[in-house]
Amino acid sequence: MISLVIYPKFLQVGENTFPVRCEVSRGRSSTVKILNGEVVIRLSRYAGEFQQAKIIEKFLTWAGKRLAKFKPSGFILPDYKDGGKVFTHNKVYDIVVKITDRKNNTARLKEGVIEIFLGRVFAEKLSEKGRGVVVKKLAEDVILKDQTSYLNEVVDELNQMHFQEKVNLCRFKKTRSRFGSMSRKRNMNISFRLLFAPRDVFRYVCVHELSHLKEFNHSKRFWAVVAGAMPEYKDAEKWLRHNGFMLG
Ligand SMILES: [Zn+2]
Repeated sequence: MISLVIYPKFLQVGENTFPVRCEVSRGRSSTVKILNGEVVIRLSRYAGEFQQAKIIEKFLTWAGKRLAKFKPSGFILPDYKDGGKVFTHNKVYDIVVKITDRKNNTARLKEGVIEIFLGRVFAEKLSEKGRGVVVKKLAEDVILKDQTSYLNEVVDELNQMHFQEKVNLCRFKKTRSRFGSMSRKRNMNISFRLLFAPRDVFRYVCVHELSHLKEFNHSKRFWAVVAGAMPEYKDAEKWLRHNGFMLG
């Protein structure tokens, strides 16, 4: 076990305070990312104490600049914990976590409430953070399933209005790497995280992917197709650049 140097647990940027988490990684390089509004630093186990302090300082400067551009407007990040709420475009979900004597962990949706049942043995073994990860995953799966019809309604509407193309399959993906994709087989993936972005940003990513059915590239012609369906698309692009990483 390598001990970590003392580091600030919070980063103050303007009026906003962001939690900082620091971990030791097995790799040779150290990394920083912003996830769900938290600055996550992973320090290489090979870095000495003096180096660690330098790296943390450098990473916090980077995070500070990144977060200074962040304008928390038009969306509320999901709060996946007992008593928490998750706001989407058309629904608000309440989260209730219950400990049961069952062996496995399950979740169900009942009248806008996501009930999460954690097995007692399991819940007692885990740390608070570990339980949080499980609750988040179970809640996300419920929301993803419940919101799939919404996704298809939006895509059908935009497609009928502007493209009239055949879409094979359209679904949410939990990937972090991209906001959307369209395959040659006309399978469309939209990042589940966009449910927590403003409605227009969500619609823009749908328009973007549908536009690839006309132009399978990012040429000038492609952007003309996008603009034809959504003239103000640049606002959404900008929003994603500045805030997209906050969506978790
Ligand atoms: Zn594209």
